[in-house]
Amino acid sequence: MKKYIFITGGVLSSLGKGITASSIGALLKHSGLKIGMLKIDPYINIDPGTMSPLEHGEVFVTDDGAETDLDLGNYERFLDAPFSKKANFTTGQVYSSVIDNERKGKYLGKTIQVVPHIVDEIKERIISAGADSDVLVIELGGTVGDIEGLPFLEAIRELKHTLPSEDTLFVHVTLVPYIKVAGELKTKPTQHSVQELRRIGISPKILITRSEMPLTKSIKSKLAMSCDVEESSVIEALDAKTIYEVPLKLLAQNILLPISKHLNLESLNPNMESWDNLVKRIVSPKDEVKIAFVGKYIKLKESYKSLTEALIHSGANLNRKVEIEWIDSEDLEKEGCNLDSVFSEVDGILVAGGFGNRGVEGKLKAIQYARENKKSYLGICLGMQLAMVEYARNVLKLEDANSIEFDKDCKNPVIYLIDTFLNQSGEKQIRTHSTPLGGTMRLGAYKCNTKVGSKLREAYDGEKVISERHRHRFEANPQYREMFEKSGLEITGESDGLIEAVEVKNHPWFVGVQFHPEFTSRLETPNKTILAFVKSLK
Ligand code: GLN
Repeated sequence: MKKYIFITGGVLSSLGKGITASSIGALLKHSGLKIGMLKIDPYINIDPGTMSPLEHGEVFVTDDGAETDLDLGNYERFLDAPFSKKANFTTGQVYSSVIDNERKGKYLGKTIQVVPHIVDEIKERIISAGADSDVLVIELGGTVGDIEGLPFLEAIRELKHTLPSEDTLFVHVTLVPYIKVAGELKTKPTQHSVQELRRIGISPKILITRSEMPLTKSIKSKLAMSCDVEESSVIEALDAKTIYEVPLKLLAQNILLPISKHLNLESLNPNMESWDNLVKRIVSPKDEVKIAFVGKYIKLKESYKSLTEALIHSGANLNRKVEIEWIDSEDLEKEGCNLDSVFSEVDGILVAGGFGNRGVEGKLKAIQYARENKKSYLGICLGMQLAMVEYARNVLKLEDANSIEFDKDCKNPVIYLIDTFLNQSGEKQIRTHSTPLGGTMRLGAYKCNTKVGSKLREAYDGEKVISERHRHRFEANPQYREMFEKSGLEITGESDGLIEAVEVKNHPWFVGVQFHPEFTSRLETPNKTILAFVKSLK
């Protein structure tokens, strides 16, 4: 059995196609099927790795070291499964492969064209992404009608044409706007976007309608009639209290009926009981704690998507809400900023990953405050590196200590650049200041040995070796190791000689990790570093 569910978006972007795809995937997975997920991004970048978080939100990292769209994070969080680099491709990757093949002479003298060469490459990638699954859920980025989406729509139309009709299903996520002055929900934008799809040769069988108001019976009938779908296949998607409620809401409207009917699957009965319990705890938690989230991309919260979700997962599992107070690190640098008034009310301080000089001094102040005032502290990636810089400056009294990311000629580079390292597949990588930026960081999952008696080992229930994902260029400098350890900053995690975690002794909970624990956190299995941090609050 191999089935394909294609999810397209109509009218405008940001309708939550990713959450819809993830929710459908989660329901099918909980029904006992093996689910693959694929996100297709019509932009030209090879991957989002070189884009600013302000441009495209967070860059998600897979175990195998791919830098991907943040929707892959949603897939993993909802399906509680890791996906690989095959689960995301872009126009850039498609053209790059085709052009490579052309240079190698693989097309036997033909003229290379969008149809068939680009479209064939897209089809091959879709099929390969679904190789190990019963059902592959494919989310096409962008909106139907976008010029750059056309080759992808043609590819999925061709797939539909060649496969038996019960092997493909098209779901269209669309907007039904409420026009206040008319006091009405309007179906026209949806009609037009479905017409556009049909012009290409694709007929959606399920409509997921985003709207501010519930759909009336007559609006549902109108949508069904004009878009040529059954009325029971018009599924309403109002704003949910939490994204994790979406699968439950889709299930309550029997979305699995049209799915199983069109794909000719036996009846699907997902067991969502424990999911439901977790959602209840997110919606009405028993207690509440507050953390200060210190970062520099806080204007676009999507930049920290995995981390904010990870805090929700840990909270749900501990039945507590983690309230976030967003602190712009640059504000902490301003003259007269009173740290006490910023931090005295919070239960813990979190410094997340980041790149570049801006806001660094503010983060250092937040870290010093957490250390000296015994506030729970979690430093992730740059948050660990800066915890070491802060310790070196204020405890070891190496006043010019820094990361060479911020001061190339620094005399005490406690964070430095190693020249060579083995990448995820064991190949030697060379890094220098002039190494190109794309795809050259230490990326993906690496094993980390935890130290006996450390908070890190305790967080992982006594595991000696853990595995977490990375995305960074700079490393903690082992030259300073002894000085740190002698003065109370312990190295508690190591990976092949690289420093992976540090902890301040004589502090209730102060942990810095070089890895990104947020990338492996799921609603049903929260990440253990983050769970321990949330547990430590109050
Ligand atoms: N900028 C730092 C580095 O490249 C930290 C990266 C991060 O926080 N993800 O090492």
